[in-house]
Amino acid sequence: MKSVARELVEKNGVDADKLVDLLVRCAASEFASYYYLSLLRINLIGAEGEALKKLVEDIRLEDRNHFEALLPRVYELGGAMPSPIGDHSGSPIADVLQSQDVRSAVETLMKSAEFSVRAYTQLCNMTCGKDNRTYSLALAILHEEIEHQVWFLDFIARGVKEGFTHATTPRGASPFVAKFLHSVAPRPATPPPRRLAY
Ligand code: ZN
Repeated sequence: MKSVARELVEKNGVDADKLVDLLVRCAASEFASYYYLSLLRINLIGAEGEALKKLVEDIRLEDRNHFEALLPRVYELGGAMPSPIGDHSGSPIADVLQSQDVRSAVETLMKSAEFSVRAYTQLCNMTCGKDNRTYSLALAILHEEIEHQVWFLDFIARGVKEGFTHATTPRGASPFVAKFLHSVAPRPATPPPRRLAY
């Protein structure tokens, strides 16, 4: 059965197959980014590595938010995520673990951010005035991906010697995407009290 959302976007002249394919690749790329950044931060050591780690942590959490915000739209449009996930993203992020030093890791991270900016710009262009929900979501993520690029540029330009610091509170706040995450049930901050059976 065709989803209503899919029917509506097709009626507005959007190629729904192409749109779903791009959304799935973006979601896969965000998931891959969360995965590889989780591994990268464990390997970051030294003064420069520690400085990058804070930045990486923020991006890692925001990319997880991007993944979670994209999923509902994929399913609303009648799409599905691949299983197993494999490498469907096309993002260069996997190369980051081959980096020899912090500088080359940042270069790969920059490439990955550029890849994302291009993909979300394409999504915006494809849906502008035709699919408002996907458009506003893609635009919100685009703002955050551009922010990630700026953080990397700042890191490259100043480096730790020039006093580079990265501080946002709270980490992974996703100022633009947060409103799309409300449908995802919030996790309690502390586990609920449990009765002990004796
Ligand atoms: Zn992202």
